[in-house]
Amino acid sequence: MKFCPKDGGIMLPAKKGDKEILRCKKCGYEEPLDKKTRKAYQIKEDKSKSGKVLTTSIVSEKEGRRREDDEWEQEREEYYKEIGLDLLRDELEGSEEHEEE
Ligand SMILES: [Zn+2]
Repeated sequence: MKFCPKDGGIMLPAKKGDKEILRCKKCGYEEPLDKKTRKAYQIKEDKSKSGKVLTTSIVSEKEGRRREDDEWEQEREEYYKEIGLDLLRDELEGSEEHEEE
Protein backbone atom coordinates (compact mmCIF):
# COMPACT_ATOMS: atom_id res chain seq x y z
CA MET A 1 0.00 0.00 0.00
CA LYS A 2 1.33 3.41 -0.97
CA PHE A 3 0.53 6.73 0.63
CA CYS A 4 0.33 10.22 -0.77
CA PRO A 5 3.49 12.26 -0.15
CA LYS A 6 1.39 15.39 0.28
CA ASP A 7 -1.27 14.44 2.81
CA GLY A 8 -0.69 10.76 3.58
CA GLY A 9 -3.91 9.67 1.90
CA ILE A 10 -4.22 6.14 0.54
CA MET A 11 -3.05 5.75 -3.05
CA LEU A 12 -5.27 3.46 -5.06
CA PRO A 13 -4.70 2.04 -8.56
CA ALA A 14 -6.73 3.80 -11.22
CA LYS A 15 -6.89 4.04 -14.98
CA LYS A 16 -6.02 7.18 -16.83
CA GLY A 17 -6.61 6.74 -20.52
CA ASP A 18 -4.85 3.47 -21.32
CA LYS A 19 -2.29 3.92 -18.54
CA GLU A 20 -2.47 2.67 -14.98
CA ILE A 21 -1.69 5.12 -12.22
CA LEU A 22 -1.94 5.50 -8.47
CA ARG A 23 -4.28 8.21 -7.30
CA CYS A 24 -4.69 9.72 -3.84
CA LYS A 25 -8.19 9.34 -2.47
CA LYS A 26 -7.97 12.63 -0.63
CA CYS A 27 -6.41 15.18 -2.98
CA GLY A 28 -6.28 13.38 -6.30
CA TYR A 29 -2.47 13.43 -6.50
CA GLU A 30 -1.32 11.03 -9.19
CA GLU A 31 1.85 9.09 -9.78
CA PRO A 32 2.81 6.40 -12.29
CA LEU A 33 2.09 2.83 -11.25
CA ASP A 34 5.31 0.87 -11.67
CA LYS A 35 5.46 -2.90 -12.04
CA LYS A 36 6.63 -3.58 -8.51
CA THR A 37 3.86 -1.54 -6.91
CA ARG A 38 1.28 -3.07 -9.19
CA LYS A 39 2.30 -6.56 -8.11
CA ALA A 40 2.06 -5.62 -4.45
CA TYR A 41 -1.54 -4.55 -4.98
CA GLN A 42 -2.39 -7.71 -6.93
CA ILE A 43 -0.95 -10.22 -4.45
CA LYS A 44 -3.47 -9.11 -1.85
CA GLU A 45 -6.38 -10.06 -4.09
CA ASP A 46 -4.98 -13.46 -5.08
CA LYS A 47 -4.55 -14.67 -1.51
CA SER A 48 -8.29 -14.81 -0.85
CA LYS A 49 -8.84 -17.12 -3.84
CA SER A 50 -6.22 -19.63 -2.75
CA GLY A 51 -7.13 -23.33 -2.75
CA LYS A 52 -4.76 -24.12 0.05
CA VAL A 53 -7.50 -24.47 2.65
CA LEU A 54 -9.23 -27.17 0.61
CA THR A 55 -6.01 -29.14 0.20
CA THR A 56 -5.30 -29.09 3.92
CA SER A 57 -8.76 -30.21 5.00
CA ILE A 58 -8.88 -33.16 2.59
CA VAL A 59 -5.42 -34.40 3.48
CA SER A 60 -6.06 -34.23 7.21
CA GLU A 61 -9.38 -36.03 6.80
CA LYS A 62 -7.67 -38.88 5.00
CA GLU A 63 -5.15 -39.27 7.74
CA GLY A 64 -7.57 -38.72 10.60
CA ARG A 65 -10.14 -41.40 9.91
CA ARG A 66 -10.82 -44.03 7.28
CA ARG A 67 -13.77 -43.17 5.04
CA GLU A 68 -15.99 -45.46 3.04
CA ASP A 69 -14.13 -46.06 -0.20
CA ASP A 70 -16.95 -44.80 -2.43
CA GLU A 71 -17.42 -41.66 -0.43
CA TRP A 72 -13.75 -40.87 -0.49
CA GLU A 73 -13.51 -41.68 -4.19
CA GLN A 74 -16.32 -39.28 -5.03
CA GLU A 75 -14.92 -36.46 -3.02
CA ARG A 76 -11.50 -36.98 -4.49
CA GLU A 77 -12.91 -36.93 -8.02
CA GLU A 78 -14.62 -33.62 -7.33
CA TYR A 79 -11.49 -32.24 -5.81
CA TYR A 80 -9.27 -33.11 -8.74
CA LYS A 81 -11.79 -31.83 -11.25
CA GLU A 82 -11.76 -28.56 -9.42
CA ILE A 83 -8.02 -28.06 -9.35
CA GLY A 84 -7.42 -29.91 -12.62
CA LEU A 85 -4.53 -32.07 -11.54
CA ASP A 86 -5.17 -35.19 -13.57
CA LEU A 87 -1.54 -36.20 -13.54
CA LEU A 88 -1.34 -36.05 -9.77
CA ARG A 89 -4.47 -38.20 -9.50
CA ASP A 90 -2.93 -40.96 -11.60
CA GLU A 91 0.17 -40.85 -9.48
CA LEU A 92 -1.79 -41.13 -6.22
CA GLU A 93 -3.98 -43.96 -7.47
CA GLY A 94 -0.93 -45.92 -8.52
CA SER A 95 0.84 -45.55 -5.20
CA GLU A 96 -2.29 -46.38 -3.22
CA GLU A 97 -2.65 -49.75 -4.92
CA HIS A 98 0.84 -50.67 -3.83
CA GLU A 99 0.19 -49.63 -0.24
CA GLU A 100 -2.92 -51.78 0.13
CA GLU A 101 -1.29 -55.04 -0.82
ZN1 LIG B 1 -3.05 13.30 -1.35
